[in-house]
Amino acid sequence: MTMADKTLRTCKKGHNYFKSSDCPTCPICESEREIESDFLSKISAPARRALERKSIISLERLSEYSEQDILKLHGVGPSSIPKLSGALKEAGLSFKKTD
Ligand SMILES: [Zn+2]
Repeated sequence: MTMADKTLRTCKKGHNYFKSSDCPTCPICESEREIESDFLSKISAPARRALERKSIISLERLSEYSEQDILKLHGVGPSSIPKLSGALKEAGLSFKKTD
């Protein structure tokens, strides 16, 4: 193993990372993607399908909706809301505020 095995790379999003292989995948983007899709795996299948139908497949998209909007979607039960808001909170986001 020499230092030349690892090269500093910069991905499209500007993350700097070292990779020893030819794999162009940025580990930071990779883990971000995991967080994003992970919230969908926490909720029930009908709720997941309801969100996917609305193209709500990222937490950023989810944060554009209020709790009430999400509850109105067919298939989303009240039990999904704490899971979704917890996932949003972890990402520093929240449901849209309604007055
Ligand atoms: Zn990246």
